[in-house]
Amino acid sequence: MKWSKMLAVTLIVSSLAAAAPAFAEREIANEPAWDSEPAPRNFDPKKREEADKRVFDKESIRMAANPIIVIDPGHGGDDPGATGNGLKEKDLTLDIALRTRNYIVANYPATVYMTRSSDTTVSLSSRTSFANARNADFFVSMHINSATNTSANGIETYAYPGSVNGKRLATETYNQLKSSFSSHRGVKEYAYYVLTYTNMPATLGETGFISNASDASKLAQSSFRQTLATQYANGMHRYWWGF
Ligand SMILES: [Zn+2]
Repeated sequence: MKWSKMLAVTLIVSSLAAAAPAFAEREIANEPAWDSEPAPRNFDPKKREEADKRVFDKESIRMAANPIIVIDPGHGGDDPGATGNGLKEKDLTLDIALRTRNYIVANYPATVYMTRSSDTTVSLSSRTSFANARNADFFVSMHINSATNTSANGIETYAYPGSVNGKRLATETYNQLKSSFSSHRGVKEYAYYVLTYTNMPATLGETGFISNASDASKLAQSSFRQTLATQYANGMHRYWWGF
């Protein structure tokens, strides 16, 4: 009784602390978390665990089959995602994702599927269910960040907490993408929905802030989006083939 009371107090205090920082900048991007929708029916924690144990040493890389990649352009249709500076997140993510798909297919022996390839509404469970049904080797969700503090800018990527290969995928893409931004916000961990219910290593990238005038003016340029796409693709290549 005493202990549970103490625990309850601790939980209340820590949740207040988490919700409280009025002046500190938000640390975690505002994207749908694990509890936004029920899990897809084909989510298999055992498969996920096995995929995370896979070792990427020289020999296994040499023997590796061509990867099946699922690219997930964030938001779409009824859900514009973040908006600002005349831009919509759903348009930027789709454009960057299509450019990434095209670059990979033209340059690497990989099979690429997209959770959407036009401006359509796709639920989170459909996105993850789609990737699980295709037995993808890895999953890359593309997003654009936003903050009430309009000076916040730069790049960050995410992996599911504790996922070894997810963290490596997030790190490889981050290392490629960071040259496009002056603010390097790091590789972070958070249980976003699409990172929680994918059976394979997954990352979620936040390439710039739509709420920041400088990031937004870069994102508005197709040449910049093409650079981001190439960097995403090179990061995926490094993840799978090691160079
Ligand atoms: Zn988003």
